[in-house]
Amino acid sequence: MGTTVIKLTKQKLKEAAQYYQPYTTSRKIPYASFFAKKDGITITAYNSGKVMFQGPNEEQEALLWEKAQPAKTKKSAGLPSNFAQKNIIGSDEVGNGSYFGPLVVCAVYADKAHLDPLKKLGVKDSKMLNDSQILKLAPKIKGLVPYQKLVVTPQKYNQIQPQYNAVRMKVALHNQCIQRLLEEINPTKPEGILIDQFAQESTYRKYLKDEKNPVTQNLYFITKGEQYHLAVAAASIICRAEFLNSLKQQSQEIGIELPSGAGAQSDKQAAKIIKKGGVELLAHYAKLHFKNTEKAKKIAER
Ligand code: MN
Repeated sequence: MGTTVIKLTKQKLKEAAQYYQPYTTSRKIPYASFFAKKDGITITAYNSGKVMFQGPNEEQEALLWEKAQPAKTKKSAGLPSNFAQKNIIGSDEVGNGSYFGPLVVCAVYADKAHLDPLKKLGVKDSKMLNDSQILKLAPKIKGLVPYQKLVVTPQKYNQIQPQYNAVRMKVALHNQCIQRLLEEINPTKPEGILIDQFAQESTYRKYLKDEKNPVTQNLYFITKGEQYHLAVAAASIICRAEFLNSLKQQSQEIGIELPSGAGAQSDKQAAKIIKKGGVELLAHYAKLHFKNTEKAKKIAER
C-alpha cells in the first residue's frame, strides 16, 4: 500500500479521464476532476493535472501514465529511421501471463495509407486503453487492415505445452501469423516485420529453425513494440479483444467468473472448478503448468 502522485498535461489528463471512466465513482471531491477505483487502487485526479494513486501496486498504475509516450511514437537505435511511417507488419500476443483464457497471437499489416485512419480510430498502446475501449476498437481495426490471428485454447495449450515451452510456442504462432499475412498481402511486400519482443532474437531464430515455413528476412525485435509502429499497437488490441471475449464466453460456459492474470483470485476460482469436475475440467479453462494449479488443488482439498 502506498501513495504516488504524478503530474499530467491537460491532454494526458483527458486521456486518463476517458480511460478510468468505467471505474469512476459518484463521490465528489473538492477540486477533483475525477475519482476512480480500479483493482483496489483509488485514483484521484485534480484539475491542476495532479493525479494521486493510492493502494496496492499503485506505483505501477501511475507509471503507466508517467512513462506514457506521446502518440507520435518513439525513435529507436535498433530500427531504421522514420520506422513509424513505413509499411510494416507488426505482431504481438496476449494471454501468456494469464492463468485462465487462451494465448492469442495476431499480426497486422499497416501501410502508410492506414496510419492516419488507425490514429483517428484511437489506436495506441493497448495498456493505455480500458477493456470497453479495446472491445469497441478491435472490430473497427479488423475492418481497416489485413490481419491474421491464431488462438490457442487452454485445452490445446495444455496438450502442446509439455513438448513446446511457452517461448517456442509463441515463436511458432508469431511465425505462422506473419507467414499467412505475407501470403494474404502478396505481391505487396512490407518494408519490415516488427515483433513485440518476448525473447532474445537468437532464441527466436533458434526455434524458427523447427518451423516448416520460417520467415527469417526483414525481422525487427523490440520491447514495447506498440510504441514504434501502429501495426503492433493494432495487433495488440485485436489480441486483447479476442482474449477478453474468450474469457467472458468461457466464464459463462462454466458459470464461474474467470479472472485475467495469475493472482490469488485465479487460485480461488480454479479451486471451484476442481470441486466441480477435477483437474480434467480445469484443463479446459486454465494453463495447467502455472503454479496456480497446485495452489488451487490445496484450496479445493480444504
Ligand atoms: Mn507483447
